[in-house]
Amino acid sequence: MSNPQLTLAAPFTAILYLLGSWLGAYAISLKLNTVFQHKLAFWIIFFAVLALTYYSYVEPQIWFRLIILNLALGSVGLLVIPTLLRQLPQTRSFDRWVSIFYFLNVLYSFVRATINFLFLENIDHDHFTLTSSTWWLLGMSVNIILNILFAIVLSGCVIKDVIQHLNNERLHDPLTHLLNRRGFFEKSATLPVTSQSYFLVSLDLDHFKTINDTWGHYIGDQILYGVSQMMLQDKQPNDLIARFGGEEFICLFLAEDAAAALVRIEHYKMLLEQTSFTHYQIKMTASYGLTHIHNVHDIEYALQRADDLLYQAKTNGRNQISFDLML
Ligand code: GH3
Ligand code: MG
Ligand code: MG
Repeated sequence: MSNPQLTLAAPFTAILYLLGSWLGAYAISLKLNTVFQHKLAFWIIFFAVLALTYYSYVEPQIWFRLIILNLALGSVGLLVIPTLLRQLPQTRSFDRWVSIFYFLNVLYSFVRATINFLFLENIDHDHFTLTSSTWWLLGMSVNIILNILFAIVLSGCVIKDVIQHLNNERLHDPLTHLLNRRGFFEKSATLPVTSQSYFLVSLDLDHFKTINDTWGHYIGDQILYGVSQMMLQDKQPNDLIARFGGEEFICLFLAEDAAAALVRIEHYKMLLEQTSFTHYQIKMTASYGLTHIHNVHDIEYALQRADDLLYQAKTNGRNQISFDLML
């Protein structure tokens, strides 16, 4: 493009550039989970376009335009930089690279503004063609390389996010968001060895079929969700809480000793008895099978024992805890 052609198109290409940096900064703010100052971005862009229009059509000045555009691009990008820098130490892997390349992009806008300011002052007097000047070509090349690298890192980040999302779905129950059977076994394989002992309780809601038959499946689902929330409220850092089947839940937890484990489950039982579910204020009870995990590698065996104990609690009249602990 010749300089006059460039001048004619300048405000329009600038709008595309500026919208790009607006969307880019907004996208990063979404990724960082922070509020984006749309109003401020709008006014920066508005005044930049106003100035660019003036220096294109009223008093054509390529030098001013280059500086204004790059400063505006950098300023819009800068809006999320404080949060980005604050969160950088906690971000990992691809997310970290996305932040770094974004930061480099913003920084580069200011570097370009400075380079333009220092070395291109004579462009309007000397009338050399900007688009075939070394500065322009060098600036564009660096821009393209930076953005290609940014795009690669972003693609990696998107793929990682999708895999993480799918993996999360694979390991969790969609209704209660608790771990499912697969999630439970996967997480239990990585349990830390501690001085405390692990215990396992299997909990099955009593007469749940009657709830479905009386109130309908939807209310039944709400109760299942309510029970899961109740269990999560009581969750300790090392607990694994899972939904194993329809109305059967598993909790693997740490306790000082058998007595402490039993106290914990008695508290569960009391909590459930005292809770009313849905706007129908439905009361629920459950039967519990509580056992000790002798060896973290033998959880399958503990699950079998907990299931047998649960069956015992059911046949003994429900709403009770059966256990094989040495108290
Ligand atoms: P018990 O006290 O012996 O455990 O009796 P129960 O009625 O709770 O047990 P049963 O195994 O006879 O019935 C379980 C019911 O749980 C049957 C099924 O319709 C219901 N159920 C299983 N999964 C879901 C679910 O995701 N949502 C709802 N609403 N109901 C479910
Ligand atoms: Mg049941
Ligand atoms: Mg059941």
